[in-house]
Amino acid sequence: MSQRAVAGVIAAQRQVEGGGFVVRRPFPMGRVDAIDPFLLLDEMGPVEYGPGEAIGAPDHPHRGFETVTYMLAGEMEHRDSNGGHGVITPGAVQWMTAGAGIVHSELPSDQMMQRGGRMHGFQLWVNLPASHKMIPPRYQGYEAYDIPSTTLPGGGTVRVISGVVAGVVGVVDTTRSVTYAHVTLTPGEELHWSVPEGHTALVHTFGGSTVVNETEAPDGTMVVCERSAGDVVVTAGEHGAELLLLGGEPLYEPMARYGPFVMNTREEIVRAFEDYEAGRLGTIVATGSGISH
Ligand code: MN
Repeated sequence: MSQRAVAGVIAAQRQVEGGGFVVRRPFPMGRVDAIDPFLLLDEMGPVEYGPGEAIGAPDHPHRGFETVTYMLAGEMEHRDSNGGHGVITPGAVQWMTAGAGIVHSELPSDQMMQRGGRMHGFQLWVNLPASHKMIPPRYQGYEAYDIPSTTLPGGGTVRVISGVVAGVVGVVDTTRSVTYAHVTLTPGEELHWSVPEGHTALVHTFGGSTVVNETEAPDGTMVVCERSAGDVVVTAGEHGAELLLLGGEPLYEPMARYGPFVMNTREEIVRAFEDYEAGRLGTIVATGSGISH
């Protein structure tokens, strides 16, 4: 199979999010059509927190898309207005379908707050098509040992959260076909990723150095491939490579987005704000220690 041409290599920008979160974000707003159906990828940290320093995102709403949290170090505690609750530990993933609307909090675990420690993870936003923006909210949590993985011939590893990579089928039941995998390659090792023609294929590098279809991708870059037919071949540099693979069928729909809401029209955004203000996206009911509302 031929290799896809590379459409662009985007350097991730470090920026401070609400609450003081330091994130590395490779998706600039102006290029969102190139990454459709994805909306955003935040790399949280890596950062070392002292006791009492860790921060997160208190109660806030979402509507019209899905948020996916994947932790590599540290612990985040999630609560939502749909009754979802869990601590996302290293290697674990949480796939939250906001759909018609949800209010959630994403905060360091009590232990993380008290003791501090290393925090490193990713949050991905996956858009929903107009036909599915108002589906009921849903929460899927998987522990590290639930994530299917394989060891490559050269000693690297592939963990598949969703979709199929290297013959491994991911664990998450996704609304649409979305591929999300975490790949670690040994020096010089190569991985072939087959992506259906017409689908978006993105590679986010976050360790070592990588060559994607003969294009250099230093640490902290997002490689956007053309949607033509052809494979994506990632090759590690002399110090190995660590990267995420993101694939999916683009929606090609009009988008209206404001803050935590991603809809198709401005009227739908206005309605989302009205529904949130009126409490129709729900509230979080505290069920345990740590967070009270
Ligand atoms: Mn959120």
